[in-house]
Amino acid sequence: MNDEQLQTWVEEISLRSFGVPFRHRAKFNGRLRTTGGRYFMKTHHIEINPAQLEAYGTEEVERIIKHELCHYHLHLSGRGYRHRDPEFKALLNQVGGSRYCQSLPGRAKRKPLPYRYKLVCNRCGMEYLRKRRVDPERYRCGKCRGVLQLSSLQ
Ligand SMILES: [Zn+2]
Ligand SMILES: [Zn+2]
Repeated sequence: MNDEQLQTWVEEISLRSFGVPFRHRAKFNGRLRTTGGRYFMKTHHIEINPAQLEAYGTEEVERIIKHELCHYHLHLSGRGYRHRDPEFKALLNQVGGSRYCQSLPGRAKRKPLPYRYKLVCNRCGMEYLRKRRVDPERYRCGKCRGVLQLSSLQ
């Protein structure tokens, strides 16, 4: 995934989950170390750690994007945008965002992947990592309701 695809994805999540457009820039930043994502108050840009995508897949990164979009939309509309603000907590809960910006374990002692299976949406390509084998017939893509296909990661 490149910066342009990330930008489109963030815009799409913003409209779908917040009902408001994302009008700034989103890009990957490989120098973010323990942080999954970051919102910049001065420029209103959002940066996402590409290692997060590698380690946890698109489902988890979507939750991080939602977290950063909570900062973004609340900040721009003059509401409580910090982690301790009740408005932040409420919005995060409502959209299903990741609880923390910092969700990557320290790089030095990163554990091997706990995920052994992957569900991939046939329609939009969204990936869902799973620790156990699951029956793909029982699930639909959370993004587009498309049919999922199971594959093994090893
Ligand atoms: Zn945050
Ligand atoms: Zn899909």
